[in-house]
Amino acid sequence: MRTLSKRLSRIPPYPFVVIAEQIRQLQARGVDVIRMDIGAPDMPPPEQVIDALAEEARRPDVHGYPGYRGSPQLKSAFAEYYQRRFAVELDPAEEVLPLIGSKEGLYHLTQAYVDPGDVVIIPDPAYPTYRMAALFAGGEIYTVSLKAENGYLPDLNDIPESVLRRTKLFWINYPNNPTGATASLSFFQEVIALARRWDFLVCHDAPYVDVTYDNYIAPSILQVPGAKDVAVEFNSLSKSYNMAGWRVGVAVGSSDAIKALLRMKSNVDSGIFLPIQHAAAVALRQVPQTWIKERNQIYAHRRDMLVDALRRLGLNVQSPRAALYVWVRVPEGFTGRTFADRLLQGAGVSVAPGDMYGTQGADYVRISLGVPTDRVEEAIQRITRLLA
Ligand code: PLP
Repeated sequence: MRTLSKRLSRIPPYPFVVIAEQIRQLQARGVDVIRMDIGAPDMPPPEQVIDALAEEARRPDVHGYPGYRGSPQLKSAFAEYYQRRFAVELDPAEEVLPLIGSKEGLYHLTQAYVDPGDVVIIPDPAYPTYRMAALFAGGEIYTVSLKAENGYLPDLNDIPESVLRRTKLFWINYPNNPTGATASLSFFQEVIALARRWDFLVCHDAPYVDVTYDNYIAPSILQVPGAKDVAVEFNSLSKSYNMAGWRVGVAVGSSDAIKALLRMKSNVDSGIFLPIQHAAAVALRQVPQTWIKERNQIYAHRRDMLVDALRRLGLNVQSPRAALYVWVRVPEGFTGRTFADRLLQGAGVSVAPGDMYGTQGADYVRISLGVPTDRVEEAIQRITRLLA
């Protein structure tokens, strides 16, 4: 038997691959599973974006390698979006790098900077890729806990100087997956100040910045004056425009980080299909704010249905004002894992056990709002029958 590399052996299978296999087995037995585990938008992208892709794909001259840096048109569209949405000025040539979905960027940036012995600060709970990428690079992970009583913000004063001295990257993510928490510009200011003091790179992962409710407007970390010196922000069209399968993300900010990421990436991949880049630019430039608002109202309605139903069942749930998830503390006598299993086996409703995101999530489950409203209703009925 060929053995796996030591690097890969340190990394467990991706949690959603494991869940998908469990679900496949249930479905093979005829169970109708409602998938509220994965954070994938269920609704389609805007019509004009699909039209732009179809039209562009018919051109004869767009089928070659697309180039490593991203099309100038898409980079300018991202820069214009940052200007319009956050009043942040970006140089499209040096401070913007399109990604094949932001996930590869999170991974590749880590490989570009982290050596064995370097510290990567990662929140707990957090999107699993930050951790996997750091483990793959041989980095040392220092975990900062996100606790409900602190609004799921890390306590920056709690990180020892001996750790900060060796820190290369510090990951943060607001609006937050899995908790739905949000961060203010003053929190970002504090993180940037810490990065300046200890000379590390802040990596702000912000794919939910336009998935917000109740008139909340999420900030970019690049709104902090001078942030570009020490921060890179990841953004994505996956959730903002319901384009998860298209694989379009972006890294913006520190030109050094963008350069390093390009050097890493260009040795590994060959860019995004040009018609997709063209259509992504159409999304950023032409889709009206009202489209995003109306889409978010649908998520907010599902959130309200779900939060009300869970509270009626006596569960302790905060209503999130951003991101695609409801983060639920499970009832006494359960762990997140046993509760998720109970919902899956007893109600055919699949939710994500919170320990997927770290040990702080052990008593939680994450329920996604990316499920058609009638299926949310059905899930509520089934869960109520099971638990009431
Ligand atoms: N970061 C966070 C916090 C996410 O929740 C996700 C996807 O769920 C991603 C990154 C990856 O997004 P993309 O589709 O742009 O790769």
